[in-house]
Amino acid sequence: MSLFEKNKVRVRFAPSPTGSMHLGSLYIAMYNYLFAKHHMGDFLLRIEDTDQARFVPGSIQNIINTLKWAGFDYDEGPILNGDVVSDKGAHGPYLQSRRLDIYKKYADELVAKGHAYPCFCTAERLEKMRNEQTLRKEAPRYDGFCRRLTAAQIAEQRAAGAKEVIRLKMPQEGTAKFTDLIRGEIEFENKLIDDQVLIKSDGFPTYHLAVVVDDHLMEITHVIRGEEWISSTPKHLALYSFFGWKPTQYAHMPLILKAGGGKLSKRDLAASAMEYIDQGYTKEALLNFIALMGWHPAGDKEKVGMDEVIAEFDIDRVNKAGATYNPEKLDWLNGMYIRAMSPEEFARAARPFLMKAGLIDASFPDFKLVKYTALEQLRVKKFTELAPAIEFMFKAPSPEKNTLCWKKQEPANAAAALDGVLATLADIKENEFVAEKIESDIKTMIAKNSAPVGETLWPMRVGLSGREASPGPFDIAAALGKNESLSRIQNAINILRS
Ligand code: GLU
Repeated sequence: MSLFEKNKVRVRFAPSPTGSMHLGSLYIAMYNYLFAKHHMGDFLLRIEDTDQARFVPGSIQNIINTLKWAGFDYDEGPILNGDVVSDKGAHGPYLQSRRLDIYKKYADELVAKGHAYPCFCTAERLEKMRNEQTLRKEAPRYDGFCRRLTAAQIAEQRAAGAKEVIRLKMPQEGTAKFTDLIRGEIEFENKLIDDQVLIKSDGFPTYHLAVVVDDHLMEITHVIRGEEWISSTPKHLALYSFFGWKPTQYAHMPLILKAGGGKLSKRDLAASAMEYIDQGYTKEALLNFIALMGWHPAGDKEKVGMDEVIAEFDIDRVNKAGATYNPEKLDWLNGMYIRAMSPEEFARAARPFLMKAGLIDASFPDFKLVKYTALEQLRVKKFTELAPAIEFMFKAPSPEKNTLCWKKQEPANAAAALDGVLATLADIKENEFVAEKIESDIKTMIAKNSAPVGETLWPMRVGLSGREASPGPFDIAAALGKNESLSRIQNAINILRS
C-alpha cells in the first residue's frame, strides 16, 4: 500500500498577493498540483495576505487567472467576482486577512499556556540590540528581554499604551528534526532559533503563525514550498508541538538557478508567467519546461504533457541541488511543440503575432496564411521569430542585381535563366501549382539546358524572396501562388536587364 493511500493527500499553494504571478510561483504551484493529482488528492489555493504593506491590488485575480490558464484547477480556494470574494470548499475563508480572529484565538491560547509572550520592545531598543549583536559578530536575533516580564510589568506597559507584539517562546533546549521528502533528515538546534513574532502590533499574524494554524485547520498533509523556508521550519514545528497537533510533511523545493550557475533574478524572467505567450511560447511548452526544471521522468524523454507528468511525478526524485532556468532549453522545447502542430493550428497561433507585426489584419484569409506560415514551421523556435522570417511573403521584394546573380554569374545569364523559369511556371496549370510539380518541371527545364543548377535556382529563389537566405524556391513559389510568382520573377528579370 502506498504511503498516501490511508489519508487523502491535501496540498496548498499559498502565494502572497504582491504582484503578477511569475514563473517562480507557477513552478511551486505546479509541483503542488502535480503531487496532489498524482496521489488523487486535493489542491488548495490560499492567499497569504497578512502583510498589508506588500499587497498589490489585482494580484489575487492574476493568481487565480494564471492557475486557471495553466489548468491547475483548485479543489478549494477563494473565488473572485469583481471585488466580491467567496469560498469554494469547506475550510474557508481562504484569504488570511479574513481569518484574523482565528489567529488571535490561537495566539491567546499559546500565551495562556506559557508558550508565547507579549513583547513591548520599541523599534529603537531592537535596533540597538541588533547593532550590538552585529558588532559581536553574532547572528541578529531577539534577546528574550520580554520573556522575563512579570504580570505586573505587563499590566503596567499596557496601561501606558505601549505597542505590543506576541512572540513565540522558542524552546531553549533540544532539536527540531524533520524528514524532508526531497532532502531527507534535517535538524536544527532549538536554542539558535529566534523568538519569532507571531502577532504584529497591527493585530495581524505573521506568516509563521498563520501558516501553521491554517495548514492544520485546512487539513494539509504535505507542505511543498520554496527552499527559502527551510530555516523557518523549526519555528513551525515548535508551534505544532505547543498546539499538540501533528505536523505536516515537508518538501522544500530547490531554488531556481540560472543555467550555468548563479541566482536567478526577476529580471531574468518575463514579468508574469502568462507573458511568455506574448514572447512567442506555447503554454504547453512553458508548462513542460517548468515541470522539467527540477525533476525528470524516467528515461530521456523531454517532451511530456501534463497528464504524463502527473502519472509519473515522484517528489522523491526532485533534484535537491537546484532547478535550472535555461532559456535555450525553453526555445528548443517550444520548437518541438511548434513542429508537432498541424499547419492549421500553427497558422492560427501565429496570426496574432503577424497582426502585431503589422503584416496582416484580421481579414487575411486562413488558407493563404496556412501556406505562408508553413514555410517556416519547421524552423522557428518561437512565434516572435515568424514575422521577420516570412515578411517577404507579404511584400514583393526588389532585390539588387548583384544579389540575384549566383556567384560570378553575369546578369544577362541570370535573366536568361529566369526567362526559362517564367515560361516553365506559366505552363503549369493553376490547380497543379504545388511544390512537387514546380520542382520537377523546373529541374527538367534546367536539365534540358544543361546549365549549372545554381545558376537558375539562386536567381529564382532571390527573385521570389529578395533574400540570400530563405526557404527553397519551389516552396515559396507554391505558397505565393502562380500569379504572384510570375510577377516576382518578371520583376527580377526587369532588374537584371535594367
Ligand atoms: N506565502 C508564502 C510565499 O509566498 C508561502 C510559503 C509557504 O508555502 O508556506 O512564499
